[in-house]
Amino acid sequence: MENNKVVDKEQQVTKCLNCNTEFQGKFCPECGQRADTKRFTIRFIFTNLLQAILSNDGGVWTTLKSLFTRPGAMVVDILNGKRKSYFSPFPMLFLTLSLYVVIFTFTGSKDIDYDNLLNDDNTEVVVNDGEQTNEQVIVDKAKNFIINALKFYSNHYTAAFILTIPVYILAARLSYGKKNRKKYNWGEYCIPIVYSLILLVLYRCVMSIVYYFSPEIADKMEDWIILLNIVVFTACFKNMFEFRIVKMVWRSFLTIVLYWVLFITIALMIAGIAAFILFMIHPEYLG
Ligand SMILES: [Zn+2]
Repeated sequence: MENNKVVDKEQQVTKCLNCNTEFQGKFCPECGQRADTKRFTIRFIFTNLLQAILSNDGGVWTTLKSLFTRPGAMVVDILNGKRKSYFSPFPMLFLTLSLYVVIFTFTGSKDIDYDNLLNDDNTEVVVNDGEQTNEQVIVDKAKNFIINALKFYSNHYTAAFILTIPVYILAARLSYGKKNRKKYNWGEYCIPIVYSLILLVLYRCVMSIVYYFSPEIADKMEDWIILLNIVVFTACFKNMFEFRIVKMVWRSFLTIVLYWVLFITIALMIAGIAAFILFMIHPEYLG
């Protein structure tokens, strides 16, 4: 009798609460959900949260440790399919960006005076009987556009940040060469870039905290960002390619230069299209 009971328990059929598949075992073979899905309790939520952070297998903490000690090897692990041991790159980027926004909100930073940013003090103000010339209107519209774009960037930091990722991928694909473009696709280039950005955002978190105590030291930290950019890209990409270290550093430097060239070109193109649309709507500005 006792034995039969044990056998019965082992062969217990569960109905998956997620996809309704009937199965035996700890996990649903169709969708992977656990068999023992329980009701939400504060204790359950708290345990899950702690597990996501502290777990040795796929937790935030061990992933961060790998990111600092062996970023290149971790990226190759993930590309080769060894993924369960690491916290996913995109959720991790969102977590770090959120952390940055929180720190930034409390510690503050240099206030950028957007309204006076583009006003050159040496420019003579031409008073034209209270009426603006067409040229002045166009210049004012263009200034407003750029100021609003900058305000958008600082107010929607996270969204703007995510939008730069495709530009980084393009820059990296062009810089690291044709052979590697064939070896890895666009999505695969995304992984080392996202982990690089996580490291850079973490540096900005530290910088923001330092700024609170000493703006001078924070200013000096900002000077190192370009160098850090090169180091971080080299570290995250290096195991994917068969470059010697000097070539790897040089190509990483090229990636960052190319990123800025592409970024400015795209920004100017968008501004050009916006100006074109503006003149289509208001042809009178053309005079
Ligand atoms: Zn299922």
